[in-house]
Amino acid sequence: MSDTPREKPTHAPMDQFRSKDGELIIGNIPLRRLAARVGQTPFYAYDRELLTQRVAALRAALPASIKIHYAMKANPMPALVDHMARLVDGIDVASANELKVALDSGADPHEISFAGPGKRHEELRQAVAAGILINIESFREISELGAIRQATGWQVRVAVRVNPDFELKSSGMKMGGGPKQFGIDAEQVPQALAEIHGAGLSFEGFHLFAGSQNLRAEAIIEAQRKSYELALKLAEHAQTPVKFLNLGGGFGIPYFPGERRLDLTGIAANLAEIQADAKTRLPEAQIVIELGRYLVGEAGIYVCRVLDKKISRNHCFLVTDGGLHHHLSASGNFGQVIRKNYPVTIGDCMDQALSEPVSVVGPLCTPLDLLAEKMPLPECDRDNLVVIFQSGAYGASASPRGFLSHPDVVEILL
Ligand SMILES: *Cc1c(COP(=O)(O)O)cnc(C)c1O
Repeated sequence: MSDTPREKPTHAPMDQFRSKDGELIIGNIPLRRLAARVGQTPFYAYDRELLTQRVAALRAALPASIKIHYAMKANPMPALVDHMARLVDGIDVASANELKVALDSGADPHEISFAGPGKRHEELRQAVAAGILINIESFREISELGAIRQATGWQVRVAVRVNPDFELKSSGMKMGGGPKQFGIDAEQVPQALAEIHGAGLSFEGFHLFAGSQNLRAEAIIEAQRKSYELALKLAEHAQTPVKFLNLGGGFGIPYFPGERRLDLTGIAANLAEIQADAKTRLPEAQIVIELGRYLVGEAGIYVCRVLDKKISRNHCFLVTDGGLHHHLSASGNFGQVIRKNYPVTIGDCMDQALSEPVSVVGPLCTPLDLLAEKMPLPECDRDNLVVIFQSGAYGASASPRGFLSHPDVVEILL
C-alpha cells in the first residue's frame, strides 16, 4: 500500500524485478546491455529464476499431493517449456505442434494431456502413438479414437472433459457452463462413458476447466468444490476407477490498477479438504490443477524502443517499434471487455520524474495499436526503452504477428 493515499496507483505491482540507477535488471543483466545482446527491439525476455520461484512458492502453498500441470498455450516458447517441464508434474497441450514441444522437453508422456475442441484425426493418432492422455471433447472423438484403437491395437488413454452445469464467477474468460464448444455437457457424460467403454478406450478420469484469469479466491474455491462434486456424481457412471481428476485452475495475476496477487491460503485449504475426501471416495484419483498464466505471466517483459515522440493537441504520444502485432493482450484486444493499461515503465530511465500522462502507441495504422493510454511515465525521449510487465503469458504466440508486415519479435529466456 502507498503511504500517500491521495495518489492512486497507476499500475499493478511489478516488484518482481530489481532496478539499479534507474535501469531495470532482468536475469542479472541491465536492460540496455540486454537489448544490445539481443541485437534488436522489440523483444520478450523471460526470467528463469522467477519461473522457478513461482512454482516453488506454489508447491509450498498447496498440499504436496496435488499435481501441478503447465498449460503451455500460455507460453509455448520451447526453451521455456523445457524449463517448466523440469519444475512441474505434467504439461497440458492443445495441438499436435504443442505436443511435439512438450515431448521434446522430456516431459513424461504419461503426464502430458491434450485438450481442445476440434482435434484432427491425425492429431488424435499422434496423441495415441505418443501414449499421452486425451481429454475427450465430443462423441466424434470417441468414435475416431475407437477406430484408431481397432486399427493399431494401441492403448488409448482418455479422460472426459466435462462442460459443467455451473459457471466460474468473476472469471476473465468463462469456459464452462451453459452451451459451450468445450467438453461434453455433464448430462451427456454417462452416455459418453458407455461409448468409451464400448470402443475399448482406457478411461482414466475427468477434466473440468471453468475459466481463466480469476483473482477472487472464493470464486476459484467454489468452482473447484463444485467440479469435485460433479466428478463424484459422474464417476458413478464409469466402468473403471477414476485415476486422474483435473480440477482446472484459472488462477489470475494482477494487471491493472488496484488488482492484487491471489491469496492461495483458502485455495490450498480447500484442495486439502477435497484431497482428504477423495481418499475414500475416489481412492485411485490423482488430483491435478493446470495453470498457464499464473506460472509464467509475471516472469516476462516486453521491450520496445521509442521511435518518435510527438505532441498532438497537447497530448504526448510515444511511438514505438512494438505494438499489438507482438503484444495483442497489452493493447487490450485479447478478450478484454474494457481496455486498461498493463503496468508499463521506461526501463532505462526509471528514476526520472513522472511526466504528464502520455500514450504509448505502436507503428501500425490502426488506433487499436495502443500499449498504454494516458499514463504518467518517467520522462524519456527517442531511443529509450519501453517495458511492459506481466508479459510472460499470452504474448508473442497470441498476437497477429503478420499484421502490417513489420519485423517480428524475438523471445529470449534468461
Ligand atoms: C487456456 C487453458 C488453460 C490455461 O489458462 P490460464 O488462465 O493461462 O491458467 C488451462 N486449461 C485449459 C483447458 C485451457 O484451455
